[in-house]
Amino acid sequence: MGTLVTISVVSDRKDRAMAAIDRAFQVMQDIENQASRRIPTSLTSKINQAAGKGDVPVPPDFLGMIKKALEFSKLTQGAFDITIGSITDLYHFEDGQGTLPDPEAIRQRLPLVGYRNIHLDEVHQAVGLTRPGAMIDLGGIAKGFAVNQAVASLQKDGISGGIVNAGGDIRLFGYKPGHKLWNIGIQHPRQTDKIIASLEITDKSVVTSGDYERFFIRNNIRYHHILDPKTGQPARGCQSVTIVSETATDAMSTGIFVLGPEKGLALIESLPGIEGLIIDREGKPLVSPALRSRLVWR
Ligand code: ADP
Ligand code: MG
Repeated sequence: MGTLVTISVVSDRKDRAMAAIDRAFQVMQDIENQASRRIPTSLTSKINQAAGKGDVPVPPDFLGMIKKALEFSKLTQGAFDITIGSITDLYHFEDGQGTLPDPEAIRQRLPLVGYRNIHLDEVHQAVGLTRPGAMIDLGGIAKGFAVNQAVASLQKDGISGGIVNAGGDIRLFGYKPGHKLWNIGIQHPRQTDKIIASLEITDKSVVTSGDYERFFIRNNIRYHHILDPKTGQPARGCQSVTIVSETATDAMSTGIFVLGPEKGLALIESLPGIEGLIIDREGKPLVSPALRSRLVWR
């Protein structure tokens, strides 16, 4: 998934803990093998290759991930849209550095972006793209999905407390030794070795989307990997968006990043069980009410 994944667990049996961790990593690896477009045999690659031609049969959990992606698209009025794939394909962020696409190429591909082009067939358990050339990119949802599945796997193996962290998409459960809560730091979007705020928490997930994760600077302009499906350009409203919720909802942080601070905060406040911290383009923090009292500023 192009990031470092760490799993930490609390257990008084090291052998059991290690076995549970190995299985959780395998669960995440399986999801990457299905979702990555860099893997030619993945379901994502198959769906993209079959665009305009037909549906691809998929297992129930993959179908569920696509269904979730469509729900987030509707919720964010298209700000989150996995059919951004034909545009992210032009930036090549997955290769490390990224390249500035030809504006004409973006213009030509924009009509291929639109979540309504996704065909989800729940009866036959299949997914397809109705437009030839359209592509899906699950980079904004697969990590959170994998984190949730990894936690489920650990819990099934009897682990009572731990952290799964996929490059800043974090889920915590249970307690640290001594029945203490976990302490989570939220990265400063401009001084990335610093923490802007922290919070003590458990049985929650904390996911962040930032313009500092994958980017390059050209002519003093920062080009990063969260794109506005309307323009095909990097979204400009925020520096980072952190969402605190029960299960890892990285699609929410990506979508709210694209929506921008005002609409984004309004959406967070309208959703029960979802809290958030938005750092706007000027570096000003906006915090949803229930999170305000819990954040410790650094
Ligand atoms: P990170 O990968 O650092 O966790 P995000 O969770 O915000 O960051 O996901 C960004 C990834 O999501 C991009 O690398 C790309 O694969 C995908 N993406 C970019 N823009 C969008 C968008 N508007 N809607 C859905 N997915 C997107
Ligand atoms: Mg993410």
